Amino acid sequence: MRTAAVVALIAAGLAACIGAALGRAPGHAPPWPQQQEPRAIDKQHRLPLAPVRAEKGLGERALARVRDIVAFGPRHPGSPGAARQLAYIEQALRAAGLAVQRDTWTDPKEQIVFTNLSATIPGKRKDRVLLGCHHDTKRTEGHPDPAHNFPFEGANDGGSAVALLLELAPVLAKTPREATLELVFFDGEESLDWLWNEAARALFGSRRYVRRHRDARLLDPGKEPPIAALLLLDMVGRTDLHLQEELHSTPLLRTILWSAAVACGHEAHVFRRAEAASDDHKPFLDAGIPAVDLIDLNGNPHWHTPDDTLGNLSSRSLQITADLVLTMLPEVERAYVLRKD
Ligand SMILES: [Zn+2]
Repeated sequence: MRTAAVVALIAAGLAACIGAALGRAPGHAPPWPQQQEPRAIDKQHRLPLAPVRAEKGLGERALARVRDIVAFGPRHPGSPGAARQLAYIEQALRAAGLAVQRDTWTDPKEQIVFTNLSATIPGKRKDRVLLGCHHDTKRTEGHPDPAHNFPFEGANDGGSAVALLLELAPVLAKTPREATLELVFFDGEESLDWLWNEAARALFGSRRYVRRHRDARLLDPGKEPPIAALLLLDMVGRTDLHLQEELHSTPLLRTILWSAAVACGHEAHVFRRAEAASDDHKPFLDAGIPAVDLIDLNGNPHWHTPDDTLGNLSSRSLQITADLVLTMLPEVERAYVLRKD
């Protein structure tokens, strides 16, 4: 993923300049569609959520899973490490009593084989809340610039969220909820180019997932229940955890995340800074599906460097993220599933 706030600011600045040049009177809508400038939420406005704590030891178990995952080696699409990790995810989901769907395809342009995995936890209603992450790691070999080739664990960027979702799976599967939950593990989030390049060669798994969902809904909406919301996890295990306010994310979901942080006493780890990031939630947002990205990108010194290692993660950060997700879920269901009735 990549930060996009600067681009947004430039775009907003440009729009302002054009507006001024045309002598647009204040208060009048411009003749072109308005680019919505991402804005931070009002942190004073929060919802009174009841904290839901993850059981003791969940963070430690998730960290042990990151250790397993890192041992597979690099996990970029099509790599041997990626294949080992896919088998590992499937096995863990099955152990939680869940059936796993494997969607494998070859991208015609890139000639790369990608695989998304997902598992459904049926709830009282068919509307789905997705909990997602990417399972691929940034490829750090074969780039023309030698500075982009180095040993890379991807313990946080890739490993942490996969591990945490696998530990949340049995917890969530134990008690059926209002909404049907779906755990989704996207492939090909990372840009094949070293630079993000407007995501032209990134977000393969999430773009495919959204396209298939849209096509299935067009064909038979009864068979393909709507996606009520997506909670995306990306880099959630760093010792000095800081989940930024990701500005593309749906404002109400950001308010729910912030409210969950306050309810759990975790606000020191959440929304110290606000910045937009392009990630697997974007294709969902573009399709009109509410989504929020729990991401530790802004100010993360280990991102896409050899320092993204197991040694720079902590079980407490994983435990904190688990608390946030579990505290958010009932309110997400209330706001996006029950309120529809
Ligand atoms: Zn990354």
